Amino acid sequence: MCGIIGYIGDNDVAPILLDGLERLEYRGYDSAGISTINRNGDIFTTKAKGKIEQLRKKVKSEYKDISTIGIGHTRWATHGKPSDRNSHPHMSMDGRFSVVHNGIIENFSELKADLQNEGVIFASETDTEVVAQLLAKLYDGDMRSTIMKTLKKLKGAYSLGILCKDFPNEIWAVRNASPLIIGLCENQNFLASDITAVVKYTKSIYQLDDGEFARLTRDNVEIFAPTGEKISKNIVKIDWDVSAAEKGGYQHFMLKEIMEEPEAIAKTISPRINDDNSINLDGINLTAEQIKNLKKICVVACGSAWHVGMVGKYVIEELTRIPVEVDLASEFRYRNPIIDENCLCIAISQSGETADTLAALREAKSRGARILSIVNVVGSTIANESDDVLYTWAGPEIAVATTKAYSTQLTLVYLLALYMAQALDKIDDKEYNEIINAIRSLPEQVASILEQKDEIKELAKRYAYLEHAYFIGRNLDYAVSLEASLKLKEISYIHSEAYAAGELKHGTISLIEEGTVVCALCCCDRLFEKTVSNIKEVAARGAETIAVISESSPNVQLECDHKIYVPSTHELIMPSLEVIPLQLMGYYIALARKCNIDKPRNLAKSVTVE
Ligand code: GLU
Repeated sequence: MCGIIGYIGDNDVAPILLDGLERLEYRGYDSAGISTINRNGDIFTTKAKGKIEQLRKKVKSEYKDISTIGIGHTRWATHGKPSDRNSHPHMSMDGRFSVVHNGIIENFSELKADLQNEGVIFASETDTEVVAQLLAKLYDGDMRSTIMKTLKKLKGAYSLGILCKDFPNEIWAVRNASPLIIGLCENQNFLASDITAVVKYTKSIYQLDDGEFARLTRDNVEIFAPTGEKISKNIVKIDWDVSAAEKGGYQHFMLKEIMEEPEAIAKTISPRINDDNSINLDGINLTAEQIKNLKKICVVACGSAWHVGMVGKYVIEELTRIPVEVDLASEFRYRNPIIDENCLCIAISQSGETADTLAALREAKSRGARILSIVNVVGSTIANESDDVLYTWAGPEIAVATTKAYSTQLTLVYLLALYMAQALDKIDDKEYNEIINAIRSLPEQVASILEQKDEIKELAKRYAYLEHAYFIGRNLDYAVSLEASLKLKEISYIHSEAYAAGELKHGTISLIEEGTVVCALCCCDRLFEKTVSNIKEVAARGAETIAVISESSPNVQLECDHKIYVPSTHELIMPSLEVIPLQLMGYYIALARKCNIDKPRNLAKSVTVE
């Protein structure tokens, strides 16, 4: 959600912190700030509501001193409105501590009341400030024990970066249920919410686990278990480059990421399909015996990942005949779900840090379910808490609106469904090979659709001034409609809805009038004629219609205003192809409307709060 950066080394810290914060901008934020320890040993803090540019200006005018240690933050407000005062870092009243925080301190109001009763004066409305004030109150001259005493009092999710003026050569870091990594370099070390902020400097990182904390100095990093004892950790090597986190010549990250889909899909599937077509699901310990005992599968996810789950329901049920329930994670966690040890819970999340999905996973786990997650970020909390993990090797996804993460998640759902169908002996070799070959062909087929991007751009211009749009489809086409509709609305701010095509006449058709735009997904050949009838129904009421059709569609006459063709493939794999022109359509409509495509208003990339 927000971003944390920290640096200690030999270089001037302010530009490094500002650069790191810019790299974390994609996570969504409303204000930013930095603290450094200057040469006379005082903590100096500058913060500003709004864009990092505002902060940069303030830093330029206020920073007279060069410092080589500091922490920085981009905030996405949860407690107290976005303002200069509420921006992080937060200082303790005595000026000894400065703290940046990602997450929520759930018991902050009790802690604040206690501290206020003891005379502490708060400078902000945030939950975070209690951490700074508590550190000062519990300070005993030893940072390790002071931090441990403070953490004992905190409830909630937090990653923290801490400076103490008595220790001008060290940064302290804490992680509990919010992401935090440490970047390791010679004569300098970094702290960051994610790798994109530091990959320019280093490819060697430590990933902190929940409850762990660390002390960073110029030459060393020490990591401590929650009990306070020093532990050693493996260094994780990052295998992607800084260019992967930059725009690479595209106007927006979203378009770059759409264009990367063939490669991302190839990376995700290739190592998992052997030459003899057998599937090799690394990270999966689920045995054939366990699959045979499954009575139910429940998918928990949010947003586009939930739409992947909707595709998954059709595909997994079709191939395995195991019932699949797909829940919005935020609903599942509060609905007393019927789950036991014969249930497999599949948690899907790009970041692996989505708070609701994590809570749903924990709920399912507490009821005995086995947890299998599909995530993009290696070592993320959801991955760490799962019995089985399938990583989408999509590389970092920066645009808030997901494209390549969605597409790679889909491919893992297909492979998983096939893997289970085979374990259950529910699929014959012919169909198995057909589907595997269809999956193998996806990178090439997706690339061929992307070649039509200029035509889609032209078509999109026509819809730039749209106020409402409807997406319809049946079965898998319906599952993809949900994603197509979200893609359009989240970046272009056009009101858009997805409906199961057969459901239109039960209410929504009353909204159709002259010129209403309806996009029908008709890639399921089996249901083609049914959807064509729905297109006729809306066209008869004046709708302007667009149809997305597979090249193998039945020879049925279809009258509509625009047709978008996609290559044909096995019916179950079709979602991966039909979504592509609709991702492009959403992008180009938002472009024509001059929207802030990579950072749509009110949205954050990685939703780490409830
Ligand atoms: N809860 C804290 C605040 O509102 C931190 C929010 C964040 O993660 O940016 O200031």
